Amino acid sequence: MQEFERADPELYELVRREERYQRDSLRLIPSENYVSKAVLEATGTVLTNKYSEGYPGRRYYEGQRYIDRVETLVVERAKALFGAEHANVQPYSGSPANLAVYMALLKPGDTIMGMALPHGGHLTHGWNVSATGIFWRSVQYGVDRETQRIDYDAVAELARRERPQIMVAGATAYPRQFDFAAFGQIAREVGAYFLADISHIAGLVVAGAHPSPLPHADVVMTTTHKTLRGPRGAMILCRKDLAERIDRAVFPGLQGGPHNSTTAAIGVALAEAATEDFRRYGRQVVENARILAEALMARGFDLVSGGTDNHLILIDLTNRGVIGKKAAKALDRAGLICNYNTVPYDPRKPFSPSGIRLGTPAVTSRGMGPQEMRRIAEWIDAVVAQPDDEAVQERVRAEVRSMCRRFPVPGLPAGDDA
Ligand SMILES: *Cc1c(COP(=O)(O)O)cnc(C)c1O
Repeated sequence: MQEFERADPELYELVRREERYQRDSLRLIPSENYVSKAVLEATGTVLTNKYSEGYPGRRYYEGQRYIDRVETLVVERAKALFGAEHANVQPYSGSPANLAVYMALLKPGDTIMGMALPHGGHLTHGWNVSATGIFWRSVQYGVDRETQRIDYDAVAELARRERPQIMVAGATAYPRQFDFAAFGQIAREVGAYFLADISHIAGLVVAGAHPSPLPHADVVMTTTHKTLRGPRGAMILCRKDLAERIDRAVFPGLQGGPHNSTTAAIGVALAEAATEDFRRYGRQVVENARILAEALMARGFDLVSGGTDNHLILIDLTNRGVIGKKAAKALDRAGLICNYNTVPYDPRKPFSPSGIRLGTPAVTSRGMGPQEMRRIAEWIDAVVAQPDDEAVQERVRAEVRSMCRRFPVPGLPAGDDA
């Protein structure tokens, strides 16, 4: 990036610092990851110079001979990898992609039934501050107070009562598997479309580490930058009979020209995800989360739902006498980056909730395994036990840095200029 450095040293320096920060800390935010060098390179190509409103063979601009081939190739890879009849790879990100699905299948004022944000759902599943909860009527399901898991009988009952036009299954903070078959059955019974939002777990689905929603859902949306380990973007997969409505909602319904560099980088990530290496990666993500969860529970941490069967862990810190924000800030100072998070039925407010959320996708991309997960649990325990003790944070910070040196970041030079 020599030209970048020369032309804009101020911005370049900030990017370099972020690079070192990503290299020297343990990134435990479950929606984050490290993309490969190949994906990084693809995001920075001359495809960014192109305008290509429309779809391959049906563009509103000339000069698409290569762009059409790029997009067609990526669409074919997406269909093959997930076993889908149709794929749209143009959505700018997950939120606009969900909006496109609603725009394709609903009328204004129709009812969206999604998981409530404080129970782990996403803003775009009908939460009241989101456009999806303003332009559409929204009903929300949550988890059971005792089991902290989705109660499918309760979901069915709510669906029968509220008669939604679309049901959404997917989450940002739910540590258990989704029963997509059950959702599909309920949706069919009440005459609703079923949207599976697998943004967090797409990489696990590809790896066979989480059941696929494909046979059960009418539409599947996923971001491409979480466990799938691609650039920031999203895809919508659907049956052939819904393809035209989905495509029209993305363009011209909501978006203009697609981001072609991103499309190419998605293609590179999809090719990587089709390998045996990636399948191993996805399974190791889940295995690492399970081991981290067990080590944390052995140290007295209270895990929502009593553990995990995916890539993420939600800790209720109430029994440790620390609030989530304070713990997350202390952990950041110690080189362990996570986020504070509400827990189901949280008595505290969303901007200062009772929990923290952790995930293993990024550390697993560095090649970390069971031994490192147990170390991480030990460090989290030490920092959370004395969140005001800077000496503890400094000691852990040094140990984290030394472990990070042994696990180079994909896409970054090893470097010793910390
Ligand atoms: C991340 C996420 C989104 C939104 O993705 P953005 O790219 O941040 O807009 C939507 N749904 C779920 C379940 C997510 O986890």
